[in-house]
Amino acid sequence: MTSEPLNCALEKIQAFVRDEVLPLEEDFLHRPFRELLPQLEAKRKSVKALGLWAPHLPKELGGQGFSLPEFARISEALGRSPLGHYLFNCQAPDIGNMEVLMAYGTEEQKAAWLIPLTRGEIRSCFSMTEPDFAGSNPAWMETQARKDGDDYVIDGRKWFTSAADGAAFAIVMAITNPDAESPYARTSQIIVPTNTPGFNRVCNTSIMGGAGEDYVSHSEIHYENCRVPQKNLLGEEGKGFEIAQQRLGPGRIHHCMRWIGICERAFEMMCHRAATRLLAPGKPLGTRQIVQEWIAESRAEINASRLLVMQAAEKIEHEGSRAAREEISIIKFYVANVLQKVLDRSIQTHGALGMTDDLVLSHWYRHERAARIYDGPDEVHKSVVARIHLKKQGCSISI
Ligand SMILES: Cc1cc2nc3c(=O)[nH]c(=O)nc-3n(C[C@H](O)[C@H](O)[C@H](O)COP(=O)(O)OP(=O)(O)OC[C@H]3O[C@@H](n4cnc5c(N)ncnc54)[C@H](O)[C@@H]3O)c2cc1C
Repeated sequence: MTSEPLNCALEKIQAFVRDEVLPLEEDFLHRPFRELLPQLEAKRKSVKALGLWAPHLPKELGGQGFSLPEFARISEALGRSPLGHYLFNCQAPDIGNMEVLMAYGTEEQKAAWLIPLTRGEIRSCFSMTEPDFAGSNPAWMETQARKDGDDYVIDGRKWFTSAADGAAFAIVMAITNPDAESPYARTSQIIVPTNTPGFNRVCNTSIMGGAGEDYVSHSEIHYENCRVPQKNLLGEEGKGFEIAQQRLGPGRIHHCMRWIGICERAFEMMCHRAATRLLAPGKPLGTRQIVQEWIAESRAEINASRLLVMQAAEKIEHEGSRAAREEISIIKFYVANVLQKVLDRSIQTHGALGMTDDLVLSHWYRHERAARIYDGPDEVHKSVVARIHLKKQGCSISI
């Protein structure tokens, strides 16, 4: 899918990533994230000045007005650097929160939270997963939001709330209707400013050797007698699960295309190394058939991934997330696994150099392992696809 404005934006974005973003990579890999913030802020200003800011947002919100399939192409271009999405203000989880606020926010909520988020003045987080409950079943949790006067009072424990460190607000999933017959009608989503008494960010959970801070963090949060006005409810009470499902449709397109951007970069690095690393005089690594196989398999898998994701993006755009349930599940597990394979082959081609922290490959190898877990683990998505087809044969399976 191409259009003149998209091609023009893609050209500018690719040049910006190459010339302005990739040179930041060494600092990103070796210095604490907070130390980079002034530099990143200056780059964000350049993105705005170039008219490329927030490509996913409508123009009236200061964005570029691209459709989901168009933004998918942009997400791939930005995915070539771990900083790409952040610099263009379309990073998770803020992008998902912006989409949810656009769809379900009241005018008051939009003015207070959406507008500053679209301008990049604040950050946000999404607080759903709990340490003591299987996150794979998002209808099952214990955090409660009980009504008291005009307020909700929230109590419970969450973890893996990404980017909560330094965020201005969280969108929290909590049980508001414990007696609802359907488990899918028990939860709601509520906006909680992070300076609310009782919003206790206990720690950043260290993952794969990274302690995490600021935007690159995953926090454990204890909600203790955390009181917010009832007007902070997003959408209707009891619709938390439905809103989460709406969020995850486009969210999986964003992630999958970002992963394809990572794959393309890892693929180029693999081919370059295979062509230039000599095993013996005049005999580059790429003369070995097994290395050629890694290259060919990777090329085919990346191309297939892109076609699958674009097909899913088109279906969401024209028929909605619900209609695209199967396509969304297919890309989530398929592309996450292609990502792991391509990164692994690229590291293998680089030998010991691939293990060093001098290359971005080892960063991605650690951080992107989570792709097979968050937004639904592989097994859950495979099960969704299988259930659709078993049902057609008269075999219905409940979760
Ligand atoms: C880097 C990272 C960032 C995250 N960011 C956020 C965030 O911002 N906000 C948030 O709320 N959460 C976040 N999460 C949490 C994430 O959504 C959960 O980890 C995910 O939903 C899985 O839940 P769980 O970890 O409790 O695993 P569990 O539900 O305990 O599952 C464990 C394993 O069991 C297997 N499994 C699960 N269900 C099935 C099934 N039906 N059939 C077969 N096997 C199954 C899978 O292999 C799965 O990995 C993040 C996680 C990571 C790793």
